[in-house]
Amino acid sequence: MSRGILFVMSGPSGTGKGTICEELLKTEDIFLSVSSTTREIRKGEVDGHTYNYTTRENFERLIAAGEMLEYAEYNGNYYGTPRRTVEEMLSEGKNVLLEIEPQGALKIKSMFPEAVLVFVLPPSMAELKKRLIERGRETEEQIKERMDAAKWEMEQSPKYSYVVVNDELQGCVNEVADILHRRVKDSNFVDKLLRENY
Ligand code: 5GP
Repeated sequence: MSRGILFVMSGPSGTGKGTICEELLKTEDIFLSVSSTTREIRKGEVDGHTYNYTTRENFERLIAAGEMLEYAEYNGNYYGTPRRTVEEMLSEGKNVLLEIEPQGALKIKSMFPEAVLVFVLPPSMAELKKRLIERGRETEEQIKERMDAAKWEMEQSPKYSYVVVNDELQGCVNEVADILHRRVKDSNFVDKLLRENY
């Protein structure tokens, strides 16, 4: 059996990458890796589903035990990808989706050069700011921080395999799904070639 595809999505806060991932999970043959975080649980989030919420102490213990495939600090909180579940799913031939920020995504790229990295851009900075304001989750000061962070994140986008612009949700979801389909098709074809007698 061939290994699954590791699919990594990043994009600044407010670009809609979370919604794109939710849509992909509804229709595509791909599994979400649930990250661990030390940030507070938000309204509407579910422990064990949105994230595994934990303390800094426990998170640092997981890092020391080598249980994080990658981790990063973002806005003063730790976020990390569990090593065991991801490696198990890939070796079982399952495609795995990581929704992570660029520091972590680039670590994944160095460990798994075959991973597919997709960066989601907003159609404009004005639109990004508007979406953050309308979401109503952050204070004015936090919105300024998110906009500054967005600049650094977007500067990393040329290191990704693909860049998509989320100007219209369904169009963007289709574009990302096409990237995944193409990669699955290529991978199946290579497997077939490698099994041929010659
Ligand atoms: P939020 O607090 O808004 O849920 O997430 C903040 C940022 O952390 C987002 O860019 C999200 O993609 C990223 N993130 C979530 N889980 C992980 C993870 O396991 N590792 C890394 N490096 N980033 C993550």
